[in-house]
Amino acid sequence: MTDSILSSFQRLRAEDPDRRMFTFVDDKGNDEATLTARQLGAAADRVAESLRDRGFTPGDRAILVYPPSLDFVEAFLGCLAAGVIPVPVYPPNPFKLKKDLATFNAIADNCGARGILTNGTYDRSRTAGSVTSFFSSDTPRWPSLPWYRTDKLRASGKEVVWCQPDSATPAFLQYTSGSTSAPKGVIISHGNLACEVTANAADLGLGPQARGVFWVPQYHDLGLISVILSTIAGNGRTTLMSPLTFLQRPSVWFDVLSRTRATHTAAPNFAFELAVRKTTPQQRAGWDLSALRAVMSAAEPIRPSTMDNFFAAFEETGIDRDVFFPAYGLAEHTVSVSMGGRSTLHIDKTALESGKVLPAADGVPYVGCGRITKPDAVVRIVDPVSLRECGPDEIGEIWVDSPTKGLGYWGMPEETEAAFHARIAGSPDDVEYLRTGDLGFFHDGELFITGRNKDLIIVRGRNLYPADIEDSVRDCHPLIRPGGLAAFAVEVDASEELVLFVETKDKVGLDERDAIVESVRRRVYEEHQLGCHAVVVGKQGIVRKTTSGKVRRSACKQAFLAGEAA
Ligand code: ATP
Ligand code: MG
Repeated sequence: MTDSILSSFQRLRAEDPDRRMFTFVDDKGNDEATLTARQLGAAADRVAESLRDRGFTPGDRAILVYPPSLDFVEAFLGCLAAGVIPVPVYPPNPFKLKKDLATFNAIADNCGARGILTNGTYDRSRTAGSVTSFFSSDTPRWPSLPWYRTDKLRASGKEVVWCQPDSATPAFLQYTSGSTSAPKGVIISHGNLACEVTANAADLGLGPQARGVFWVPQYHDLGLISVILSTIAGNGRTTLMSPLTFLQRPSVWFDVLSRTRATHTAAPNFAFELAVRKTTPQQRAGWDLSALRAVMSAAEPIRPSTMDNFFAAFEETGIDRDVFFPAYGLAEHTVSVSMGGRSTLHIDKTALESGKVLPAADGVPYVGCGRITKPDAVVRIVDPVSLRECGPDEIGEIWVDSPTKGLGYWGMPEETEAAFHARIAGSPDDVEYLRTGDLGFFHDGELFITGRNKDLIIVRGRNLYPADIEDSVRDCHPLIRPGGLAAFAVEVDASEELVLFVETKDKVGLDERDAIVESVRRRVYEEHQLGCHAVVVGKQGIVRKTTSGKVRRSACKQAFLAGEAA
């Protein structure tokens, strides 16, 4: 049985109290705050004690609303120490509450939290934001829950006894990104966490000597589990920065990777594109990235050309292409399903459209997302309609069972039953699988992801993946915003028809708009022999995205049908 991350941390705190575990850098990449094992332990003690004083008991939920900071790390660990279930969420922008508060309230409602934890920075701007919007009659409301600051707590001096959870005890709730519907709270147990962190360490070669630099959001599984909780369990020293720092100045990510001689980092595909566009050859010449051992790409589809461009542009930094580490996972499975992809496979387009895998040199390229490395994990490819296992050359839904399969969705028994307890039709095995909702296939032992089942566009019997269509039009007109595309299907006269949302880089006039529509239509026809029912051109924002930047195609479709597209 693997140690819980609480006991791993307590051992580290006793044996190596002065180990610097976390550093937070500011928007220029300078160190702003640090935490040793002793300091983190003491801070978690204070949080645990204050939660108990305020009447929280084990199993109660506390929502964590923090700007990116080490205060978040302390609060999270303090909750675990007290047996309180932390619920990390995207901090709503206090000055744009209308946009962010609906999701926040839905999460607060769903998890039945006893209170909200925050720090001074957020608390001040929250209050300022509320005052500003006080005068507007349709001001959205915060949930009526008490707020507690955790950054100015004092220790009572009494010993704080930490919980010793068994592996089946819920550790925290991980809300999904909300790409396909409203975010759902996945219950992650202590056993799930311990197993995930141990498996990640083995896959990535982590240990006390690993040095990581990350800006991926702390409220989301990749940043929370693969980065923060893995560090808490003793797998290296970690430097964190705000996602905003990266988005505003991508060079800061590389400044810090270079300065700290980092061995590990991770980001979704879009970040590697931004890195190429928003850094200069002069900057790259000044960076030494030769210490990197794993550069993980995960959380969204990986475009083969993105990584080719990235490694070509960054060659001078000494980064080795072999360190590229594609991975695939989802919140329902704690995080990872497969790790360490090695190959790119080209698949015949016509075969792909009929759900078959036929390698062809001039086919559509897919990046392998690695092997199934977790002990006791079983992954099957299953026809999502007949629920029968697919043949070796067929594309189907990815089903998985392993010790990191989450316990279910909080307060959603029907959805839990459907997603977490699926059985393969006609199979003698007694396994209850998690339905990932993603389509893919195995080739030479590697898992390839083709897209989400819910997003699949089926036109006259052809299976079309929105990401392929979006990819093929991204460079068809210079005014199209890279990443500002969404393809989805609508029903017209009982058959599916293609619609595309296209964002432009700048404001465009009517002539330019017509030219963009025309080039998109032409490109879609050339590449996919398909007409478009509609091409909607608009400014940034028409392509609905999650807080982590993933395209919400079903939300785009709803907007289109409601006539709210542009
Ligand atoms: P929701 O479940 O609320 O609709 P979500 O599925 O985006 O949102 P997450 O659990 O955060 O929420 O993200 C996991 C999903 O991200 C996967 O199911 C998959 O669709 C996508 N994904 C993750 N890694 C990859 C990858 N390497 N390639 C392609 N898609 C990926
Ligand atoms: Mg999902």
